[in-house]
Amino acid sequence: MAYTISNECIGCMACAKICPTNAVTGEKKQIHAIDPAACIECGACGRVCPSRAVLDHFGLAFERIPKKEWDCPQFDLKTCMSCTICLDTCPVSAISQALLLKGNPHLFPVLADEALCIGCGFCAGDCPADAVTMVPRNRESRTEETEKA
Ligand code: SF4
Ligand code: SF4
Repeated sequence: MAYTISNECIGCMACAKICPTNAVTGEKKQIHAIDPAACIECGACGRVCPSRAVLDHFGLAFERIPKKEWDCPQFDLKTCMSCTICLDTCPVSAISQALLLKGNPHLFPVLADEALCIGCGFCAGDCPADAVTMVPRNRESRTEETEKA
């Protein structure tokens, strides 16, 4: 079930700007709406809404979280299978593959653009090897074991 927007909406457009699927519609200073067919429940709209107007599928309002406090993925290359599922599941194409390990023919994932990441956690949730963990932003190294290559 898709998320919804309540009458608390002040029409600031923050949700419409961040939504990766353009599921949010509405004019400035007017109550916005979410297209349930387009919503992927990433929660980005709820994290940016200043008036707690976005409701999850239980009807509970999201708290606003400053973007610098959103989590983003860390990849454990010991368990990563190079399956590329995390790349495919990321709604904003923030993950790419790079050959990080010397002598290993496989390409491993990296968070190529932290600014793009909306902290949805889909990559961590879909990884079949549990190789992705959501961690606070601005960590020095988000891909473990690379320096041991
Ligand atoms: S939960 Fe994600 S996909 Fe759904 S409306 Fe909000 S930002 Fe868009
Ligand atoms: S948490 Fe993962 S899937 Fe979600 S936007 Fe960030 S990199 Fe992409």
